Amino acid sequence: MSITPATHSSSPIPPIDRADDTRARLDLINTRIASACQRAGRASSEVTLVAVSKTVSAARIRSAIDCGVRILGENRVQEASPKMAELSDLPSELGVRWHFIGHLQSNKARRAVELFETIHSVDTISLAERLDRAAAELGRRLRILLEVNLGGESSKSGMAGDDVATAAEKIARCNDIDLVGLMTVPPYHEQAEKVRPYFRKLRELRDELRAIVGDSCSELSMGMSHDFEIAIEEGATVVRVGTALFGSRQ
Ligand SMILES: *Cc1c(COP(=O)(O)O)cnc(C)c1O
Repeated sequence: MSITPATHSSSPIPPIDRADDTRARLDLINTRIASACQRAGRASSEVTLVAVSKTVSAARIRSAIDCGVRILGENRVQEASPKMAELSDLPSELGVRWHFIGHLQSNKARRAVELFETIHSVDTISLAERLDRAAAELGRRLRILLEVNLGGESSKSGMAGDDVATAAEKIARCNDIDLVGLMTVPPYHEQAEKVRPYFRKLRELRDELRAIVGDSCSELSMGMSHDFEIAIEEGATVVRVGTALFGSRQ
């Protein structure tokens, strides 16, 4: 089946990569984060925005950084690597950091350690151990989160909630990676409200984990463009927002 765009053929949509648009979208997201925090009785400083820049060009990422974005989220090592190289002239005082949020194949683990400060999507003990070895060899420290597949969807990666405690105990013995929290991508629902129970469940798992491995394991990476406010109400400390900031992906 071929899909032909029915509209807009003669009147082009204004480009969404103008710095003004990025600034306005970022302002709006920050306002929405602040309101959600207020509703939940939390401080806005408790929530970190990861700007998900997959499919977004280095030039547009640069505009977003100009507007105040400091953490970028990428889901493919091959895509991120050249974009990061293009942006390597940015002054280090800006404190720009890159987070990996996609499924990580074990043969890309070493490269991921070279490129990223944090990996949100560690889904097996063996991947964590591989990252630990790579971090040791490279003389780096790496922050990791365990990805939990709460909906049990076979299309998504992530470990079962029941396996988190065992994994965390093993990872706690690794020397060069720090387990800082949990991440999830819940099943998609048109009504964002329906994902609230998944966010709540992740928070409960995090609380159980904190009792085992300590307060250093407190991050909750949950919430995307259409549901980040609900995630914040349920305790998200990191929200991963792509389309609401950069516009829809091709
Ligand atoms: C793409 C992606 C996001 C951002 O999704 P949006 O709906 O564009 O905000 C967040 N998390 C993960 C793991 C992703 O792959």
